[in-house]
Amino acid sequence: MATVQSETRDVQQFIGGEWVAASSGATFDDLDPFTGEVVARVPAGTREDAHLAVEAAAAAFPAWSQTPPAERQRIFLKAADLLEARAEDVASWLIRETGSAFGFSMFQLHFVPGLFRQAAALAYAPLGEVIPSDTGAFSMGLRRPVGVVGAIAPWNAALILSARSIAAPLALGNTVVLKPSELSPYAGGLLWGEIFAEAGLPAGVLNVVTHAPGEAAGIGDELVENPHVRRLNFTGSTATGRKLAEAAGRNLKRIVLELGGYNPLIVLADADVEYAVNASAFGAFMHQGQICMSARKIIVERPVADEFIAKLVAKTKGLKTGNPSEHDTVIGPLINSSALDMVRSRVEEAVAKGATLLAGGESVGSCFQATLLADVPEDSDFARYETFGPVAAIEVVDSADEAVVRANATSYGLASGIITTNAEQGLALAQRIEAGIVHVNDQPVGDEPQMPFGGVKDSGFGRFGGQAVVGEFTEVHWITVQSGSHPFPF
Ligand code: NAD
Repeated sequence: MATVQSETRDVQQFIGGEWVAASSGATFDDLDPFTGEVVARVPAGTREDAHLAVEAAAAAFPAWSQTPPAERQRIFLKAADLLEARAEDVASWLIRETGSAFGFSMFQLHFVPGLFRQAAALAYAPLGEVIPSDTGAFSMGLRRPVGVVGAIAPWNAALILSARSIAAPLALGNTVVLKPSELSPYAGGLLWGEIFAEAGLPAGVLNVVTHAPGEAAGIGDELVENPHVRRLNFTGSTATGRKLAEAAGRNLKRIVLELGGYNPLIVLADADVEYAVNASAFGAFMHQGQICMSARKIIVERPVADEFIAKLVAKTKGLKTGNPSEHDTVIGPLINSSALDMVRSRVEEAVAKGATLLAGGESVGSCFQATLLADVPEDSDFARYETFGPVAAIEVVDSADEAVVRANATSYGLASGIITTNAEQGLALAQRIEAGIVHVNDQPVGDEPQMPFGGVKDSGFGRFGGQAVVGEFTEVHWITVQSGSHPFPF
């Protein structure tokens, strides 16, 4: 059993290096999804607070963008150490604020120090180029930070996804306004104010604005429309991302969009069935299926289908559901009652239209059992949209080619997996999958800070991680120096 704090904390927004209430003075209750208890009272910020945060970030930009890379590196290395030193407390917040089971909380606490240490290296990553010129000029392409970056993060892997939204932008010399989800304002936002202030980040370089449920739009509008904000990044649902992309387009702002997924996991006839079963259960049910990369559709070749399905059903029925602070719990609560209602209704509708329920299908308090469906009709909402919960659908196919067709039969394109013992065949098929990420002989859920993470189709565009992130949050500046004078035509 993890040691979980039980007190209700009053927290403040972080703007211009100060801890402040909302300009309206209003607060809202941040609830524990498992117990319903109030975890924190949080400022209900508005567009006005976002405006103040952008002004603070804009004021801090000139000095921060000129800070030597060694200083930015030092701050990120220190932040990684500070987070590790607070791991127990932060795990407790993740459990209480987001219902993240102990195992997934510890995974996040392992990932983010690594992310910050990678970001420390990013301070030196913007390499320019010297370009041969036909005019005799000395010609350069320099990479420079863009200005203020607006970052909007979700609740589901609150620690990782909020850290990812700020790490590269800050390390590359930008200043940031972070808007965490209303469902994870502390572990997905205000925590970073505490950590980075202690690490020595100057005032105004990072700002965190919080808001009550249903009041994101005003803050989002300020981030999109304020001319000081030069880039945006958004991680969340495709529906919200689409709205932000439209607004960003009107304002001619680039945006990195990390959106939803409907992630296929293919199990080929040559797979090691035990391994395929363990991989599928992990891919589908880690964090009760509330991961953008969760395996939602498991496509299995007929020769191994009966054995695979029987073993996966048995494993699924044995997963412990309940209190996320107990170390052996796999399926904790869904984030709130609307999420629970949505998952239940998607399963009920699919079954009513002819799907077969192989395991689960019931809610248990604030949790929903790990659930497997088969024969899900194409016209059901489960087949058409991402269902963010512990539910996966199994499809049986007659060939690897058919598996690829079924894997691509979705408007999404984030992550995918192909379980096979034949790496050559896996690699050939991987290149035919319409997704930003394909793991051969593995399931879809996985990330490392240095990898080019991102999707295609309705899963978004742009990449966090890898070299790609340098291009997302810097601008190329072409500068020439003419030596002496050269003739002009008039
Ligand atoms: P969501 O779209 O409801 O919310 C995401 C963020 O957008 C939150 O901070 C929310 O407050 C904010 N928001 C909502 N309306 C807004 C508006 N009008 N203007 C500005 N901001 C607004 O998504 P969620 O429920 O928090 O997260 C789950 C979704 O995120 C799933 O679809 C999941 O697949 C996706 N996701 C994607 C990735 C990825 O890397 N591709 C990672 C995690 C989650």
